[in-house]
Amino acid sequence: MARVGGYRRISDDDLNTGDGVRTQGEDVDDLATSNGWNVVPYEDNDLSAYKRNVKRPAFEEMVKDLKSGVIDGIVALDLDRLVRQPKDLERIIDIYETSKRRLVFDTCTQSYDLTTSEGRFMARLFVNIANKASSDTSRRIKRHQLDKAKLGEESGGPAPFGWDPDNKSKLWDKEAKPLRKAIEDFIAGKRVATIAREWEAAGIVSRTTGKPFNQTNFSRLLLRPRNCGLRVHQGEVFLNEDGSFVKGVWEPVCTIEEWEAIGAVFQSRKVPGADRSTKYLLSGIARCGICGHKMRGQRRKDGKHAYTCVANQPGACGKVSVVGEQTDELVRDLVWVDGERATGSLKLEPTAWARAKELEDTETAIAALRAQWKAKEVSNSTFIFMVETLEKDLDTLRHERAVFNANTAELEAKSVNLRGSWKALTLEQRRRAIRHSLSAILVHPAGKGKRFDPSRLEPLPK
Ligand SMILES: [Zn+2]
Repeated sequence: MARVGGYRRISDDDLNTGDGVRTQGEDVDDLATSNGWNVVPYEDNDLSAYKRNVKRPAFEEMVKDLKSGVIDGIVALDLDRLVRQPKDLERIIDIYETSKRRLVFDTCTQSYDLTTSEGRFMARLFVNIANKASSDTSRRIKRHQLDKAKLGEESGGPAPFGWDPDNKSKLWDKEAKPLRKAIEDFIAGKRVATIAREWEAAGIVSRTTGKPFNQTNFSRLLLRPRNCGLRVHQGEVFLNEDGSFVKGVWEPVCTIEEWEAIGAVFQSRKVPGADRSTKYLLSGIARCGICGHKMRGQRRKDGKHAYTCVANQPGACGKVSVVGEQTDELVRDLVWVDGERATGSLKLEPTAWARAKELEDTETAIAALRAQWKAKEVSNSTFIFMVETLEKDLDTLRHERAVFNANTAELEAKSVNLRGSWKALTLEQRRRAIRHSLSAILVHPAGKGKRFDPSRLEPLPK
């Protein structure tokens, strides 16, 4: 008579009473008995198998016993209770595939016979989907942030400059008054540097650094959407579904019109750090050779531009800079040559969409699942659950492929003669042509000489 491990696990979803484990135990015992097997119980209580760092002692012991021959198989309420991480399943499958003994396997809800390849296929599919559902739970926490944004509620963290440290929805006169005045002065034509100097003289300092504001920080302060009561989520002003602004729950310093005016003034004056729209060929394509961060195109005092590793992003070193003009020309020439070389082979080797295999696999999985369901090897509820998840993936992938095809068709029509048509291309099209050939350009730190040194540039091909 086979001795099987009867596995029970109460999860976070169950009430924390232990009843869950007991009920599972009865079901598991009944199933084993009906198969004519003896049960050795293994119990993990109140642990989430999804949290990667949570150890399940009983599960670990059972796997060890299965491997060493103490038990000849596993019975569980369902696959979901037994494993949630694909790697847990792989460990068990590995034992089933390599054991010289005849092993058995069963669950109360669905028979996945891990001794056959069909059973393993189904089990893998199921665990992958269940695993995704768990990831969705972590995503739900992020959702919570989104919901707060939708209501215009405050995100976490201390009160920003201008608001009361003890109640961040209320303005704090000590800071809000000078800020209000600065906004009016700026719109009236006063320059950032002038106002920043006035603030320094008045002893107004940043709350985070305790130091006076420099021009960049001061510009940022003026441009904060929060000033006019707009909520930012993930770096962008948050909009309602109808496209209108989400209004924050805090007191604003200025009106939306004033805030927009500030943006317009910055645009026209080109204050450093103010204009985020891409104006340079290699912004974000050039990467710092020391820290790997994207370099930003900036206009220098002499009116020419340079690409610079800007130290205001986390982890960026701020040490590397390269002249823009020569770099642009060099990369452009490189892309022309690559385009000419590629034109000949384009017909043979059309640009492939990177996720094609994934799409194909999803289609195959749906077909296989459908076949098994028709053969009544899968229950209706399992089938619906799994097929809906897969179909959602399929829709996303197909949409992505359509967008990709549209983009490459446009580009390949143009790439026939990049050299000849370069002038007619918009900056965005040129940038796309570059990205078509190169994934990035590494810019290594400068040596001693002052001249432009092409060997500092290391193009990374696609
Ligand atoms: Zn850097």
